[in-house]
Amino acid sequence: MADDCIFCKIIAGDLPGEIVDQDEHTISFMDINPWTRGHALVIPRQHSANLYEITPEDLHHTAVAAKRLALTMRDKLGAEGINLLNACEATAWQTVFHFHIHVIPRYTDDPMTLPVRPMPADMEELVKVAEQLRG
Ligand code: 5GP
Ligand code: ZN
Repeated sequence: MADDCIFCKIIAGDLPGEIVDQDEHTISFMDINPWTRGHALVIPRQHSANLYEITPEDLHHTAVAAKRLALTMRDKLGAEGINLLNACEATAWQTVFHFHIHVIPRYTDDPMTLPVRPMPADMEELVKVAEQLRG
C-alpha cells in the first residue's frame, strides 16, 4: 500500500468504492466520473504507479479481469461495445497514480467521441519512427 494513494485506500476499505468484481490479484469498481453508464476501473491489489512500473504478472491479472468485466457489461448492461483505456503519466492524462484500466461500456448514441481526427501518415516520417523504435 502506498501512502496517500486513493485506490490503495479503496482496496483497504478506508475509502468507499462500489466494487463490482474482485479476485486474488485485482479489484474492479465504478468510476466516480463515468463517461458512459457502467464505466469502471480495474486495478491490481498491489500498488504500482503506472504502465512503466507494473509487473508483467499484475498486468496480466488486470487484463484478464478487464476482459471478465467487459463480458459482464455486455451481458448485464447490454453494452454494444467496450473501450479499454490506460493513461500512463500526466502528459497522457493520468490523474491517479495507481495503475488502472478503464473499462468503458459503449452504446449507440452515447456521448463519447474520438479525441483525435485520424490522418494518413507522412510515409517518410513513419519509416523514420519505425527505424528509431527498432533501434
Ligand atoms: P486517470 O485520469 O488516471 O486515467 O483515471 C483516474 C480515474 O479515477 C478518473 O476517471 C476518476 O474519475 C476516477 N476517480 C478519481 N477519484 C476517485 C475516487 O475517489 N473514487 C472512484 N471510484 N473513482 C475515482
Ligand atoms: Zn495505490
